[in-house]
Amino acid sequence: MTTIGENLESVRKRIHAACLPAGREPTAVRLLAVSKAQGADALAQAVGAGQTAFGENYIQEALSKMALLQHLPIEWHCIGPIQSNKTRLVAENFAWVHSVDRLKTAQRLSEQRPAHLPDLQVCLQVNIDGGTSKAGVAPQDALMLAQQVAALPRLALRGLMTIPEPAEDFAQACAVHERTRVLFDVLCASGLRLDTLSMGMSEDLEAAVQSGSTLVRVGSAIFGARPGRSQ
Ligand SMILES: *Cc1c(COP(=O)(O)O)cnc(C)c1O
Repeated sequence: MTTIGENLESVRKRIHAACLPAGREPTAVRLLAVSKAQGADALAQAVGAGQTAFGENYIQEALSKMALLQHLPIEWHCIGPIQSNKTRLVAENFAWVHSVDRLKTAQRLSEQRPAHLPDLQVCLQVNIDGGTSKAGVAPQDALMLAQQVAALPRLALRGLMTIPEPAEDFAQACAVHERTRVLFDVLCASGLRLDTLSMGMSEDLEAAVQSGSTLVRVGSAIFGARPGRSQ
């Protein structure tokens, strides 16, 4: 069995290798370690191996790890669905949130972000492949939502996040990620100052980097298969 440190090293190498053919600087792609369903000890091991940014899907689970790991320099990212009654916990405890897909959620986060903390860093989740039951703003509504969110105090709109359906092959994965990149370019061309494309996971990070991802969210390739919950 490989250790978390070894897995991190091989994920970093994968990112590096994906940047070369794409003509991109490896430093242009951040690695977010997705630690849902992992115990605090696993996160501590990853921190020991140089990882600082962690993504969590479930707010309560994240809060208990934050309490256990408060002595470590961790940047916490919320990447899961946000119910209205959880916005305050997100606003008070996370540095980033990737899963904003409604103005109402953004307004609550803006109102509830404590003034003594830096702005909450926000990505809008886009439903890029159109599953009707899926979270995410529809691509055609993303520009309007982005303009509204960008105007809110105490939030810093950074970019877009997607969770596409698993692709059949590299080309198909690239095609979906490129649709997100094109949308990102449209938003930038409209005058929004965005720098983050949060896309790519354990299976498809190469395709995501090829298509312009600036932040890959990697769970199982670092921590191994998740016990229990699959999402
Ligand atoms: C679980 C999850 C990931 C990581 O998935 P892996 O396939 O384990 O790399 C990334 N992003 C989101 C939103 C997730 O829920």
